[in-house]
Amino acid sequence: MNIHEYQAKELLAKFGAPVPAGHAAMSVEEAVEAAKKLPGPLWVVKAQIHAGGRGKGHFKELPEGSKGGVRLAKSLEEVEAHSKDMLGNTLVTVQTGEEGKEVQRLYITDGVDIDSEFYLAMLVDRATGRIAIVASPEGGMDIEQVAHDTPEKVHTFTIDPATGLMPHHGRSVAAALGLTGSLAKQAAKVTTALYKAFLGTDASQIEINPLAVSGDDLLVLDAKVGFDGNAMFRHPDIAELRDLTEEDPMEVEASKYDLAYIKLDGDIGCMVNGAGLAMATMDIIKLNGAFPANFLDVGGGASKEKVTAAFKIILSDPAVKGILVNIFGGIMRCDTIAEGIVAAAKEVDLDVPLVVRLEGTNVKQGKDILANSGLPIIAADDLGDAARKIVAEVKQPA
Ligand code: GDP
Ligand code: MG
Repeated sequence: MNIHEYQAKELLAKFGAPVPAGHAAMSVEEAVEAAKKLPGPLWVVKAQIHAGGRGKGHFKELPEGSKGGVRLAKSLEEVEAHSKDMLGNTLVTVQTGEEGKEVQRLYITDGVDIDSEFYLAMLVDRATGRIAIVASPEGGMDIEQVAHDTPEKVHTFTIDPATGLMPHHGRSVAAALGLTGSLAKQAAKVTTALYKAFLGTDASQIEINPLAVSGDDLLVLDAKVGFDGNAMFRHPDIAELRDLTEEDPMEVEASKYDLAYIKLDGDIGCMVNGAGLAMATMDIIKLNGAFPANFLDVGGGASKEKVTAAFKIILSDPAVKGILVNIFGGIMRCDTIAEGIVAAAKEVDLDVPLVVRLEGTNVKQGKDILANSGLPIIAADDLGDAARKIVAEVKQPA
């Protein structure tokens, strides 16, 4: 789960990170009011979307050569003009793809004079099973590019979970950034704040780019924080920060029913229980020369409600030309699943071919229910048979 920059900064500030003052705004009026609450005479107007590269991005609706989604303002009039340019318009950055993202919120912050910019991040390093710190003196730029062109400028340290963060980690970060004296102490303090925030919120990633030197101060100027979605039940306050308008509507709908759904590019919709079976089903569809339209795992307790929701989600994708249901009745019995499929197929007015492969407890009763349903459901005996049948149906000339 991701949150906006202003939310990330408010959160990190609670853990002691040095963040310039700022206020979120949903309208041009609110943006000007927000600026009035800050000392000035320099402000930054920042588009809030779940994507980076805003500064170098461009707005679809504005003439070519217009400024991007992070702009300095030297007067309240400029704050107003920049806010008008951004709100309701579509910001395209290297991370949004061509279609861009509509800007619905702004963040108005204190503007600071930047002397130098650094990169500092924490993430879960799966290779070592530890939290890793990534630090680079090359801030304000695309870190992937820095890692590619000048790998020696990206420094990585891991934190032993048995000891937690130690003073030497802070000193290593300061050294990696080339900071000395008071700024080195501040770098160690920021590192401690990020580590506390990382553990305290079950974060999966905290990225500060840039961490900037302004005079005698080290400041967090941009922050991106992502969380482990499976831990959000422990943090209802953070879960509330989720902005559904930033997510794929179908994936949001699926998450309401606890379905694991990911849209893909093919034309065969898949409904499967269990991630392993879902992967195998996608593979065997490809083996037979077609492509899956989605990954959808209905999970262990595939109730009628879940199966119906899953059908609706699959069918809302106009690319779907046929559906393959591949369910193993283990905890759930096949007859219960079959009843769910029949009820769901009737409710959604199924108009594409449906191949069902059931296996497991009460499989005979399940198959009978499908056969007697009066619906044009094509039964399959095993996974290979199911894949061949649905591919043949979808490939049939209309
Ligand atoms: P991003 O482009 O989405 O990563 O957005 P950032 O918040 O990182 O802003 C992009 C760039 O704008 C930063 O790298 C800075 O160079 C600049 N910037 C952001 N805040 C300030 C500020 O307060 N003062 C100045 N002078 N520049 C800023
Ligand atoms: Mg940035």
